[in-house]
Amino acid sequence: GYEFVFDEVTSFVETSVEAEKDRGYDERRVAKDDRKMLPIYAYRDELLKLVEENQVLVIVGETGSGKTTQIPQYLQEAGYTKRGKIGCTQPRRVAAMSVAARVAQELGVKLGHQVGYSIRFEDCTSEKTVIKYMTDGMLLRELLIEPKLDSYSVIIVDEAHERTLSTDILFGLVKDLAKARPDLRLIISSATLEAKKFSEYFDSARIYMIPGRRYPVEKLFQRCPEPDRLETAVRTVFQIHQREPLGDVLVFLTGQEEIETAETKLKEMMKDLGSKSSEIIICPIYSNLPTELQAKVFDPAPKGTRKVVLATNIAETSLTIEGIRYVVDPGYCKINSYNPKTGMESLLETPISKASAEQRAGRSGRTGPGKCFRLYNVKDLEPTTIPEVQRANLASVVLTLKSLGIDDVFNFDFMDPPPEKSLMKALELLYALGALDGKSYITKLGERMVEFPVDPMLSKMIVGSEKYKCSAEIITIAAMLSTGSSIFYRPTRNQQYLADNARMSFYTDNAGDHIALLRVYNSWKEMNYSSQWCYENYIQSKSMRRARDIREQLAGLLKRIGVELTSNSEDLDAVKKAILAGFFPHSAKLQKDGSYRRVREPQTVYVHPSSGLFGASPKKWLVYHELVLTTKEYMRHTTEMKPEWLVEIAPHYYKLKDIEGTRTKKSQSRNIRSLMLMVDTNTKAKRKVDTNKK
Ligand code: ADP
Ligand code: MG
Repeated sequence: GYEFVFDEVTSFVETSVEAEKDRGYDERRVAKDDRKMLPIYAYRDELLKLVEENQVLVIVGETGSGKTTQIPQYLQEAGYTKRGKIGCTQPRRVAAMSVAARVAQELGVKLGHQVGYSIRFEDCTSEKTVIKYMTDGMLLRELLIEPKLDSYSVIIVDEAHERTLSTDILFGLVKDLAKARPDLRLIISSATLEAKKFSEYFDSARIYMIPGRRYPVEKLFQRCPEPDRLETAVRTVFQIHQREPLGDVLVFLTGQEEIETAETKLKEMMKDLGSKSSEIIICPIYSNLPTELQAKVFDPAPKGTRKVVLATNIAETSLTIEGIRYVVDPGYCKINSYNPKTGMESLLETPISKASAEQRAGRSGRTGPGKCFRLYNVKDLEPTTIPEVQRANLASVVLTLKSLGIDDVFNFDFMDPPPEKSLMKALELLYALGALDGKSYITKLGERMVEFPVDPMLSKMIVGSEKYKCSAEIITIAAMLSTGSSIFYRPTRNQQYLADNARMSFYTDNAGDHIALLRVYNSWKEMNYSSQWCYENYIQSKSMRRARDIREQLAGLLKRIGVELTSNSEDLDAVKKAILAGFFPHSAKLQKDGSYRRVREPQTVYVHPSSGLFGASPKKWLVYHELVLTTKEYMRHTTEMKPEWLVEIAPHYYKLKDIEGTRTKKSQSRNIRSLMLMVDTNTKAKRKVDTNKK
C-alpha cells in the first residue's frame, strides 16, 4: 500500500493563518454566469468616470475580480467602441484565446465577430471586431503597421505585473503614443502591488484599486523538501484526495512535459486505488494544449467528483478557475534566460518569487477557505522575479524598435533597462545578419525581415532563400520549426522501436533534421494531408496542421515583400545554404572527443538526443537551429554543412582562418565589435549623461 508514502508527505508544517484573517471573510458566492456578481461590478461607474478623466490609469485588483473580462465590456457599454477598438493585451496565447471566448459567450456573440483575438499565426478577428484580445507581442507587431494605433480608442496592457519582454517594450511605446494621441485611453492592469512603479513610470498616473474578496488560505509547507518535486506533488494530490473534503485541486507545474508525466502517474495511482474512492477528473492546461481541450478546465466537476487541474504558470494570474480549494505548489516555473556572452538562450526551471508564491496560494481561496501545500520554504525565495527584458535575447525587439524609427535603443525609455551588453549583442547580431548597416540604421533587408513574426535569424533564412531559389522549401522548414510542439511522436515503452524506425526513414542520405522536417511535410502533403498517414508514421497530426497554417501565412508574407515562391527541392545544397544564410552564427565543428565546438564562440555543445544525427557517424561541420540546456548544452535541429559555405555566405563574419582553426581567440570578434562600438559610442555617451542627471 501507499500508507508509508503518505506519511512521508504529511510532513507539512502550518504557517500562520493570522495575517490571512485580517483580510475579512466574505460569504458572498459568485454565481458563475452572472457578470453582476463579480467584485468589479460594484465599481463599474466609478471606473468609467476615472477612465474618462484620466488618460492613463493603473488598475490593481485581485485575480478573478473581473478586470480582464469586464473592463472591455464596460468600455463598450460606455460608447468607447464608437471611436475605435478596445485592445487588451495578454502575455500568454492561451489567456488571450480563452478570455476572448469567455467574453464572446457572455455577450452572446460569435467569437471572431464583435469579440476576437489575435495571437501569432492566428488571427481570429474580423472588420466587426471591437473588443480585441491579443498577445503583447501582437500589439507590438500592429504598431509596425499602424504606428499611432489609430483604429483603437483604448489600449489595456493587462497582466502588467508579468513584465514580459513585449509588455516592457509596449510600455515605452504607448507612453510615447499617449502624448501624440490625447484621445487615446491607456489602462495598465496588474494583479500585484507593483502599481506604484507603474504609476511613477507613467508620469504619476492615477492608481485605482479594486477591492477583492478573498477567503483565508491555510498555508502548509514541507520542512524538508524532497528531491523529486513531481513525485511529491503527485503524492500530495493523492493525499488530499484521500483525506480532505471534496473541492478541486490546482497543481502548478513547469510545462507540458511535467504535466503529462503527472497525469500518467496520477492515473496509475487512481487505478491502484480502484473503486474505493470517489473519482478524480484530470484537466491539464498549458499553452500548446489544443483549443478544444482548453475549455474543459472551466467545466465544473460533476457532483461527487474532484477536479485536479494540472497547470503551468498560466493559472497563477492569467486564468481564474472557479472551485479550487487546494493548491499544490512545487515552487518552480520555467523562465527564459539569456547569456549575452555566448548568445545562448535557454528555458530554465527556476524557483518562483515570493510574489508568485502568494499569488499561487491565493488561487485556493476564491470561492471558499482554501489550503495551499508548498513543497518548499517561502523564506528561500527572492521577493520578485527579474523582468524578462533583463534576461532575454533582445535581437528581435531591437529590430522592431529600429523599424519603428527608434534608432537610439540605448536611450529607449525602459522601465528597467536591460544590460548594455545584451543590447550590444543584439546590435552585433543584426549587423552580422545584414539587418542593420554600419551606422546601426535598419537596412532594406532588415525592413523585409521585420515583416515576418519570427526571430531575426529565422526571418533572414526566409528572406535569404530568394537567392537560392528555394523559398518553397525554406518556408516549409521555417513553419515546421515554429509549431511550438514536437513533430515526431514517441510512444512510451513497446512501440518506441517502431516509432524510431519510422522517423529514421526521413533521414536517408544523412539528411539532417531540417531536411527531415521538409521531407515529413512533403510526404504528408503528397498523402493529401492525411491524419491516418500521420498516425501510421508516428507523426503528430496536430503539429502538422499547425505547420500548414503557419506555412500559408509565411507564403502570404513572402508575396507581400515581392518574393516569388520557388521550389528547388532537387538541390539540397541550395536549401542548406539558405538555412546558413540565417543561421551562420550557429555553426559548430566536431572535436576529437566527439563533442562539438562553436566556430566563433569558445563553447562546447552536443548533438541533441532527439536529432536524427544523434549516434550516427559524426559529421564534421554542423549548423544548428537552437541550443537547449538540460544536462548539457545541446544543439537542437542540426544539419550538416560545408565550412567553405560559411566564408561564401558570411564573409564579414567568418574568415578562412576560422574554418581552418588558426584564428587566435583575440582576433575572433574584433572586426564586428569595433565597428559597432564606433557606431554606438555616441549614444552610450549620451546615456551616461542621462543617468548622471538622475
Ligand atoms: P481578472 O482579470 O480580474 O483576474 P477575469 O475577468 O479573468 O478576472 O475573470 C472573471 C471571472 O470570469 C472569473 O470568475 C472567471 O472564473 C471567469 N472566467 C474567465 N474566463 C473564463 C472562461 N474561459 N470560462 C469560464 N469562466 C471564465
Ligand atoms: Mg485578468
